[in-house]
Amino acid sequence: MSLKMKAFKKSIWVYHIACSPCNNCDIEILDLLTPRFDVERFGILLVGSPRHADALLVTGMVNRLTKPRLIEVYLQTPKPRVVFAFGSCGISTGIFAGGYNTEGPIDKVIHEVDPEGIVVYVPGCPPKPEAMIDAIVKALKAL
Ligand code: SF4
Repeated sequence: MSLKMKAFKKSIWVYHIACSPCNNCDIEILDLLTPRFDVERFGILLVGSPRHADALLVTGMVNRLTKPRLIEVYLQTPKPRVVFAFGSCGISTGIFAGGYNTEGPIDKVIHEVDPEGIVVYVPGCPPKPEAMIDAIVKALKAL
C-alpha cells in the first residue's frame, strides 16, 4: 500500500484559504458544514490550522498579494497534501484572466514550489456543495 493510501485511510481534514474570492465560493463551503449537507458525517472536518490539515480548499483568484500566503500555507501543510481549486477563479482565473494583478491559476502557483503537488479541480461559479463532496470522494479514490 502506498504512503498516500495509508495516509488517507483516515478522515480527511481540510483548511480553507481565500485568495481574493468574491465570497460566493466561500458561502458554498459554509453550506457544506450546515446540517443539510453535513460533511462531518463523512469525516471531512474543517480545521483552523494548515498544520492539522490533509487538504487545502482554495477559493478565488490568486493575485500578487495572496500568492506568497498561499505558498506559505501550502508548505505548512503536512505531506501528502491535496489542494482543491474551488471555482472558475481558482481553476483558470475566471473573469480575472489577463488582469494586471493575476498570478493564478492555482495549479500553476502550486507547481512552482512543488511540481508534483496534487491539485483537484472543482468547477463552477460557484461550485455547488454537491460538486465539492463529489470532488473529495473522487480525489480519495484516485489517490
Ligand atoms: S468562481 Fe465565481 S463565485 Fe467563486 S470566487 Fe470566482 S467569481 Fe466568485
